[in-house]
Amino acid sequence: MLLQLRQLFNRVGDKKELSLEIPLEELGDYSIIGTFITPISLNGQVMNRAGVVTLDYTMRFTIRHLCDRCLNEFDREYVFDLSHILVKSVSSDNDEYIVCPDSTLDLNELAISDLLLQLPTKVLCKEDCKGLCLNCGKDLNDGDCGCCG
Ligand SMILES: [Zn+2]
Ligand SMILES: [Zn+2]
Repeated sequence: MLLQLRQLFNRVGDKKELSLEIPLEELGDYSIIGTFITPISLNGQVMNRAGVVTLDYTMRFTIRHLCDRCLNEFDREYVFDLSHILVKSVSSDNDEYIVCPDSTLDLNELAISDLLLQLPTKVLCKEDCKGLCLNCGKDLNDGDCGCCG
């Protein structure tokens, strides 16, 4: 979704509530991290405080992962709180600002890049997952296989 922020950039004190979803079919293929099984919901606000425009939002979604250790499928819900300062043009003093050309912001693109930075690269179904026996391949979470002493 493309947000039009011209008015917000120009009016100190202005505020815009955000509540939207990125549907599954727009999420593309991120099979490295898993499969999205819910849309991404975004809730938050853009606000012009004393001339500084900030975007604060909460992102919520569920991914079906494959456990890195036991290879079982499991679903995990993620909730991330994010905050960015928005600027109209590139400034040299801080490259962490989000640049909004023509006072527009592609929120989907920003949300997905935030998400990819936040997600862990390796996921376990549970912190103490015992994994598979290297010898017989049994899932050791279901009990000891007895073959490796
Ligand atoms: Zn596991
Ligand atoms: Zn075994």
